[in-house]
Amino acid sequence: MEYSKVAHRDTVLLTVTDPEKDTAALDRAAAILKNGGLVALPTETVYGLGANALDPQAVKNIFLAKGRPQDNPLIIHIVDPQQAQLYAKDIPPVYYELCRRFSPGPLTVILPKREIIPMETSGGLETVAIRIPSHPVAREIIRRAGVPVAAPSANLSGSPSPTTAEHCVHDLWGRVDAIVDAGECSVGVESTVISLAANPPLLLRPGAVTPAQLREFLPDLVVHHAVTDKLQENERADSPGMKYKHYAPKAQITILDAGSEQFVRYVNAHAHEGLYALCFEEDVAGLKVPYISLGRDEKDQAKHLFAALRELDEKGAKEVYARCPSRQGVGLAVYNRLIRAAAFHECDLNEETQAPSDQNSEAGVPAAGTSFEKRKA
Ligand code: AMP
Ligand code: MG
Repeated sequence: MEYSKVAHRDTVLLTVTDPEKDTAALDRAAAILKNGGLVALPTETVYGLGANALDPQAVKNIFLAKGRPQDNPLIIHIVDPQQAQLYAKDIPPVYYELCRRFSPGPLTVILPKREIIPMETSGGLETVAIRIPSHPVAREIIRRAGVPVAAPSANLSGSPSPTTAEHCVHDLWGRVDAIVDAGECSVGVESTVISLAANPPLLLRPGAVTPAQLREFLPDLVVHHAVTDKLQENERADSPGMKYKHYAPKAQITILDAGSEQFVRYVNAHAHEGLYALCFEEDVAGLKVPYISLGRDEKDQAKHLFAALRELDEKGAKEVYARCPSRQGVGLAVYNRLIRAAAFHECDLNEETQAPSDQNSEAGVPAAGTSFEKRKA
């Protein structure tokens, strides 16, 4: 898709510090949505690029502004679980149980769609993905617009998802009608996506709502193998988004599966011009190369990952060694995003140290230049 072909739009920046007081900004954003325009708006996961989900032309404009492939369906955002029946049919009772526990919040549920949802929104599928965001600014804008709001992440397709309004300005200024600034997103990775249109129910994308939490309601929930592994050539993508390149910075990232000490030793032993470490707080003290720390725990890592990927580009990183997230809790979502950013380059240093070809016994690491293929966790 050619980004340059999109007609210029005059973008306004609307700042909302208090959703109870800044009602003029909320009304302006809502009016733009109601009239078929495009608004980048904050949610608790990442910033979304919103348009009226029932308006095929408005939805087409989302795809154009982002350079998003047309077969990659959009999530629609509503404010109340009862509204789901207007857009989806054959809704099983467990949907409402899930909503009672996890909504509003970072859970998206795929259901059979009603006719009112245009094929543009569903990417040509007979299903629709529905989420009820908890961010007060998103909720107020959607409520005031009075329409369901289709909103993929508000970035150019392929680049890291935006977690601040500045990221949206960087990617979408002149391509959308408004950007609403309400500060940094609290979760930082996109919603968990599950399909109740599949039998057994299927988790297609991990997020802050974890498989263990969901299994209390869906004991037979299956986690799609593409959450942690590369989709095979010719394999059908149950979720079209799985097929596409994601979150990729310009630098080549390699994920190193290692404890803190081993990670630090490896990175220091392979220091070279343009190398950065993408690490955790516990690694910082020992590192002798430039680094970006994602923080202390999985929640911190989720919150800071996408901004860190953008920062690596700004700093001109050529190569990045990233500490492997735990894959526990929201850590699975961090791993799922990072493995894509790394184009599935991963190395288990615990395995490598056992390898007879290991020359670098002092560092306890494989020789630099080892070609890394993702190994099964
Ligand atoms: P984004 O809008 O960037 O957060 O991405 C939404 C994700 O949900 C993409 O990976 C889509 O492929 C997926 N998705 C949305 N709607 C559906 C659907 N009806 N069936 C399967 N996957 C969907
Ligand atoms: Mg996205």
